[in-house]
Amino acid sequence: MLLDPNHYDPAHLDDETRRLLRATVDWFEARGKRQLIADAQDKVWYTEFLDFVKREKLFATFCTPASVDGTKRWDAARNAAFSEVLGFYGLQYWYAWQVTVLGLGPIWMSDNSEAKQKAAALLDSGAVFAFGLSEKEHGADVYSTDMIVTKTETGYTATGGKYYIGNGNVAGMVSVFGKLADSDEYVFFAVDSQHENFELVKNVVDSQMFVSEFRLDAYPLTDADILHRGPDAFSAALNTVNVGKFNLCTASIGICEHSFYEAITHAHNRILYGNPVTNFPHVRQNFVDAYARLTAMKLFADRSVDYFRSAGENDRRYLLFNPITKMKVTSEGENVIDLLWDVIAAKGFEKDTYFTRATADIRALPKLEGTVHVNLALVLKFMPNYFFNPKAYDEVPTRHDATDDDFFWHQGPARGLGKIQFHDWEPIYTEHAHLPNVALFHEQAKAVKTLLTTAAPDEAQQKDLDFLLNLGHLFTLVVYGQLVLEQAKITNTDQHVLDQIFDVLVRDFAGYATALHGKASSTEAQQQWAVGQIRKPHVDQARFDAVWQQVEALSGRYEMRP
Ligand SMILES: Cc1cc2nc3c(=O)[nH]c(=O)nc-3n(C[C@H](O)[C@H](O)[C@H](O)COP(=O)(O)OP(=O)(O)OC[C@H]3O[C@@H](n4cnc5c(N)ncnc54)[C@H](O)[C@@H]3O)c2cc1C
Repeated sequence: MLLDPNHYDPAHLDDETRRLLRATVDWFEARGKRQLIADAQDKVWYTEFLDFVKREKLFATFCTPASVDGTKRWDAARNAAFSEVLGFYGLQYWYAWQVTVLGLGPIWMSDNSEAKQKAAALLDSGAVFAFGLSEKEHGADVYSTDMIVTKTETGYTATGGKYYIGNGNVAGMVSVFGKLADSDEYVFFAVDSQHENFELVKNVVDSQMFVSEFRLDAYPLTDADILHRGPDAFSAALNTVNVGKFNLCTASIGICEHSFYEAITHAHNRILYGNPVTNFPHVRQNFVDAYARLTAMKLFADRSVDYFRSAGENDRRYLLFNPITKMKVTSEGENVIDLLWDVIAAKGFEKDTYFTRATADIRALPKLEGTVHVNLALVLKFMPNYFFNPKAYDEVPTRHDATDDDFFWHQGPARGLGKIQFHDWEPIYTEHAHLPNVALFHEQAKAVKTLLTTAAPDEAQQKDLDFLLNLGHLFTLVVYGQLVLEQAKITNTDQHVLDQIFDVLVRDFAGYATALHGKASSTEAQQQWAVGQIRKPHVDQARFDAVWQQVEALSGRYEMRP
């Protein structure tokens, strides 16, 4: 189930992709754990890694759409595998790639063919890219941008600051979001981080990655640098994040996988009072829960890829699954690390472990590219149609085919989310009713519909984001379970593990119901509903032991080369 570099071969992908992914694993293993950790501690800029990327044309191969260079393609299935590998070895390496993906978004989405050709050539030469959306004073409020583009006799000049912009120290092109001074319209334009009017102020984080503050001071632009204007510029910002934010979940998965090996190998070989630490029942419970959560993360992420790749004008279901990969899967990553860390305790602080970096890195993912709140608020828009207005679609197959995902660059205006319809979520639950915890969870899931029809949020509660976000968590669990089951069916996932996953989900649902009960504005009817959702998962010791055996077998399975 876990990525294992000793036997890594993503056989579901084409030969050249397999070779490149394997080469990436080999590069990290050859570099070795000591060097990797020392570089992170000394905050060394990753020149050797970027040299490797350049030599193998890695970013060029994975990040150029076929429409720009017919010999390449953008393929979300292989990008997911690549993201997982990079997360497995270190979030800082992943980040250099991730902000390249984001920086390229507004370029590939634009009609500016000159900028596209320039970007493709830069990628081929080994350049990285950057995405300049955030500003120091405005956080998530991107509407309030103070990056101002002013018309001049020969073109334009841009003046203003950006903050938290990855790769700002070296990016070949930085896609920058701002406003036109005369019309107040939004605009996206490209700048060169090495230009004399580009002032690199500092790295705002204490890390190997470079998360820059920069300022543009009357930076000269021509029409050849303009990528988007008006509503298109705003859509390009949101649509780019749609493409990029999916990678956060696979990074989180990679981080959890590497950490899992370290944790189980340590705990299983540590003898206290004459016995392995893993003989404690609570330690086993932590490991089994962590394993179930991590498996669910992988199942959900894998199935989401199919919906992204099959998306089109008439099927925009990915717009619900995408924020859930970003917000839920990455939050689950935090839960996995917390469960493991509670077991390995002091070991998780040791400077020569991968784990100690993972404890900090795992926290970043739910907060980047929109916080959990922002994504939950988004998810809520889909809830009425998801529950009450399903629609039949053709079955979406597994999408590992070596094709180009062109729709990502033509997603259109980010409007009308509340009108998107979904296939009926219930049949996949019914199909798995033989698993007791799936059946229990299905009852809880149906109860969300009951809540919405019998004790729906009143007018005041509909303005109370604290209350609504809690409802959003309950809804998210239902969607999460649905795609986990869909993927489990496709991959024939072990039934013990699957039931164990729903053991966790039944408890999580009860937890969010309890939180709803405690909300300041919850009504009597809502409180009663909440109490009714506190269900005990089905207990089965044989199932638990079978899952534990899978976990135990991971002890000693993988250790990064020193
Ligand atoms: C390491 C790192 C790298 C980054 N890289 C980049 C990059 O390369 N390019 C780039 O453009 N940005 C980048 N960012 C910025 C990142 O995307 C922002 O941190 C993020 O958008 C949230 O902004 P903020 O942290 O300032 O929170 P704020 O916007 O200040 O939010 C404060 C609080 O208000 C809540 N909130 C805000 N709006 C809403 C809403 N509409 N609904 C519900 N709750 C809301 C938030 O959840 C949060 O709890 C990076 C950040 C970090 C830390």
